[in-house]
Amino acid sequence: MTRTALVTGGSRGIGAAISIALKKAGYNVAANYAGNDEAARKFTDETGIKTYKWSVADYESCAAGIKAVEDDLGPVEVLVNNAGITRDAPFHKMTPQQWREVLDTNLSGVFNMTHPLWNGMRERKFGRVITISSINGQKGQFAQANYSAAKAGDLGFTKALAQEGARAGITVNAICPGYIATDMVMAVPEKVRESIIAQIPVGRLGEADEIARCVVFLASDDAGFITGSTITANGGQYFT
Ligand code: NDP
Repeated sequence: MTRTALVTGGSRGIGAAISIALKKAGYNVAANYAGNDEAARKFTDETGIKTYKWSVADYESCAAGIKAVEDDLGPVEVLVNNAGITRDAPFHKMTPQQWREVLDTNLSGVFNMTHPLWNGMRERKFGRVITISSINGQKGQFAQANYSAAKAGDLGFTKALAQEGARAGITVNAICPGYIATDMVMAVPEKVRESIIAQIPVGRLGEADEIARCVVFLASDDAGFITGSTITANGGQYFT
């Protein structure tokens, strides 16, 4: 039986690696994205994975987008909540808009995507909800009160929902990556990046594929007894 997986923010960075790894593992994969049409087109050309454009920050768009995916590929059994943004600023300079945008995408986006899929997963007695949180949701990060709050919220969401899904065959887990070599991290000034690497005991940034392999495991039948958990993948930078 071929299962269908939907990856938000699945056309670039960590999400692209997740989409590709799930396809290789035998899933039908749909990759959502927000606005970068060129990257999405290139991704589809290179991988054959179809992309779907909507913002996870908007509930109605998520419901409509999920319907389009399910019309094409059948019921979504694996949801990977990967889409995320940063709007960094020290708190005294953080604007309400910076706060709202990050919470809307990184935390409410997880609700907006999971909620429309939840009843279907309950009825079919199978589901996997995997959310990409962050090391900075575990330890907090200077100039990221918005991002750290949202990513910590994702972990609370995961632990609560795991309890509700357990009897229905739905597992709900999170992954907290440390610093991974994607556009998000490569966009920070080189000096800052060097100082980040100096704090990582393994002495390098992580690879997107290293997170993707954790997702493939959590999605698999082998991980059926794991729920409410967080996989921490950060090169030894922070222990929980
Ligand atoms: P990128 O910036 O490389 O890619 C982000 C992806 O999310 C893009 O596909 C983007 O779409 C999509 N996206 C952004 N906003 C929305 C939205 N509102 N609706 C739908 N899709 C959206 O990010 P990364 O690959 O670096 O990060 C992926 C996840 O991993 C994020 O949740 C991030 O917080 C988390 N993370 C990343 C770390 C890192 O070191 N890179 C470390 C820890 C956690 P589009 O292409 O259209 O812009």
